[in-house]
Amino acid sequence: MSFLFGMSVNGLAISGHRFGFQSGPSQKKKHMLMLGGVHGDEVEGVVLANALLAALLQKDTTEFQLTLVPSFNVDGVLAKTRGNANGVDLNRNLPTKDWSPEATTPRYQPGPSPLSEPENKALVDFIEKEKPDFILSLHSWKPLLNINDPDGSSVCQQVATAIASRTGDVIEPTIGYSTPGCLGTYAGFERGIPTLTYEIERGLSPKAVIEKNLAACFDGFKKFASI
Ligand SMILES: [Zn+2]
Repeated sequence: MSFLFGMSVNGLAISGHRFGFQSGPSQKKKHMLMLGGVHGDEVEGVVLANALLAALLQKDTTEFQLTLVPSFNVDGVLAKTRGNANGVDLNRNLPTKDWSPEATTPRYQPGPSPLSEPENKALVDFIEKEKPDFILSLHSWKPLLNINDPDGSSVCQQVATAIASRTGDVIEPTIGYSTPGCLGTYAGFERGIPTLTYEIERGLSPKAVIEKNLAACFDGFKKFASI
């Protein structure tokens, strides 16, 4: 089922897709939120999200509840920019305790205030209402899996291990520089929702992205369902 996850600065639909929500009333399955295209110039994540969408639409079943948002920053994806149409880096604009109005580099614009951007308002509304059990966010950079497991949880670690066993990617608890206002901090550390940032190798062709990561992603799904 498709639904309107939110609206972009330019007034475009941010589409969401639901899988595994058909179960009976007594069965509360675990719920994963998966985002692609938080940074519009990281097309590899959008490619993988859309390949997953194609596979899931043919299967139309998952062992858990999945909400998939393939192009979260839809204006940025269309314009091939990191930020949204206001030039704001959505992964520096969430209302975390460490949010800062200062951009650490010109590319990482946090916006005029925390949660100033409509895309992030939709995301925070969703997280508050639906309280997903796990968040997986697709980006591209050097290939790594950045785990943000809250205290007492090893969900990210377990899912990342399943993915990495196929891709060979490294698993890192930090990415080596500070990221105020990011989703890993907002959801992972401040809301207790394990949040995995999946950095796909930058510059791969769509075919190579899929060959390297699609089956690995399904391995991660299988692990999540089993936890
Ligand atoms: Zn990114």
